[in-house]
Amino acid sequence: LFVTFEGGDGAGKTTQAALLEEWLRESGREVVRTREPGGTEVGVLVRDIVLHHRGHIAPRAEALLYAADRAHHVETVVRPAIARGEVVIQDRYLDSSVAYQGAGRVLDSDDIRELSLWATGGLLPDLTVLLDLDPAAARTRLDADAKPFDRLEAEKEEFHARVRAGFLTLAAAEPERFLVLDARQPVPLLAARVREAAATLIG
Ligand code: C5P
Ligand code: MG
Repeated sequence: LFVTFEGGDGAGKTTQAALLEEWLRESGREVVRTREPGGTEVGVLVRDIVLHHRGHIAPRAEALLYAADRAHHVETVVRPAIARGEVVIQDRYLDSSVAYQGAGRVLDSDDIRELSLWATGGLLPDLTVLLDLDPAAARTRLDADAKPFDRLEAEKEEFHARVRAGFLTLAAAEPERFLVLDARQPVPLLAARVREAAATLIG
């Protein structure tokens, strides 16, 4: 089983991924929880490049760097874990590229999707949880948590609005794969919805 969490910064992806992991482990499953960018040693280097030089990398180069990180991560971490019968829970995957490098950087979304599918050998998640949150609310939240909010501030408000719309477009196109949740809801309630969706797939 391959589950991904998507959405903007501050939407609660990491929190929900951790709660799903905890629940699956308690019910006796082997779980690999990982993330992109930066889920491997090579990926940490790529993450450093894309985040350090954000806004100063040619959009196509940025898209290729994310694709390179993903290709290495899928081949060395995700596919082997799935092959061992483990559940892979991942913070961000190819939908982030379509939303950020496609809608955000205004590259063609179909090109970005094709690039990602080539990079991953066509691996799609069984379930993608989209935590949808207005960028202004995300900013307030990151601020209140005293987390560094340079992640959001690195880009203009319009950028984050395009990214959010990009995610929602993806979810509308693949309703069977996506579970869209209003990220303003309480953490335990969101976690219950996620568990319910995962449980249905596990059977
Ligand atoms: O979720 P995480 O904090 O790991 O993401 C790091 C940053 O990388 C985020 O601020 C996100 O905006 C950015 N990102 C991106 N394109 C992707 C994935 C992440 O711009 N495909
Ligand atoms: Mg996070």
